[in-house]
Amino acid sequence: MKTFTWMTLVGCLMAFSCSTQAQQEAQSTTTPAATAAVESESFSLKLTEAEWRERLTPSQYHVMRVKGTERAFTGTYWDNKKDGAYVCAGCALPLFASKTKFRSGTGWPSFWAPTDDEAVAESRDASYGMVRAEVLCSRCGSHLGHVFEDGPKPTGLRYCINSASLNFVPEDKAKATE
Ligand code: FE
Repeated sequence: MKTFTWMTLVGCLMAFSCSTQAQQEAQSTTTPAATAAVESESFSLKLTEAEWRERLTPSQYHVMRVKGTERAFTGTYWDNKKDGAYVCAGCALPLFASKTKFRSGTGWPSFWAPTDDEAVAESRDASYGMVRAEVLCSRCGSHLGHVFEDGPKPTGLRYCINSASLNFVPEDKAKATE
C-alpha cells in the first residue's frame, strides 16, 4: 500500500511535468509574431520562410512578413521627391508611382493610388483595437501598410506604406532598361 501510494505520487508528478512542458511548447508557437505572419496561400509567388529571410533584410522581414511598422520619419522614402517607380521590395512588382505620392505629414510614404487596380490586395486588419484596411503586394502577399479614406483628390484615399516594403527605381534608370 505504501509502495502504491509512492508510485501514484511519482506518476502524478511526471504527468504534471509533461503537461507543463506541452503548454510551454504550445505557447512558444503562438506568439503574436507567429499568428501575424503573412498567409501566402492565395498569392502566386510563394517562398518558404527561410527563403524570405534570405531575400529580405531583418527590418524588411519584420515589416513585410510579420506585419511590422517602421517608426515614422525613419524610412528611406517618406521624404523622397524624385520621379520614378516604387516596386515591391520582395518581388519587384511595380506598386506605386511618384506622380501619386503626396506629402501627408505622417512620416510614411503616402500615395493616393496604386500603379493599377491589380498591383495591391487589401485585407481587413483588426489588430491593436482598430479596424483598418491592410495593403498587401498582390503577387507575393507581403505586408505594405494600410489604406485610409482621408487622402487627397482625385481618389480621397491615403495609402500609408512602409519604406521597408519598397524599392525606388528612378525614372531615368527605368527608361534606360526599357
Ligand atoms: Fe511583392
